[in-house]
Amino acid sequence: MHEVGMVAALVDAVVASVGGRRVDLVRVRHASTVPEDVLRQTFAMLTAEGPLAGAALETEVFPVRLACPCGFDGALGHDDVIGPGQAVCPSCGGLRAFPPTPELELVRVLATT
Ligand SMILES: [Zn+2]
Repeated sequence: MHEVGMVAALVDAVVASVGGRRVDLVRVRHASTVPEDVLRQTFAMLTAEGPLAGAALETEVFPVRLACPCGFDGALGHDDVIGPGQAVCPSCGGLRAFPPTPELELVRVLATT
């Protein structure tokens, strides 16, 4: 699962940004192609120890959209994406390209001062 690498990079960025303080809350934006439960499980697994132990995770979703010649125009889910920039249209099943988007972005970190 590539989610593990993505979340690990995010956790590293948070740890680097807080300079040894304890982290209370991390807010992220994630693409509709990343399942929230996977994100939460991975975050919990990777932050069980260290400065992020017990930190809350807040998430907001943004859609990764696909416009297909069949008329479908909507958000892609995790199972629709088969590779970087490649998806299967949920409506007609055709192989379509879409612009690769960052799937996980750090919005805010709250750390104990
Ligand atoms: Zn289609």
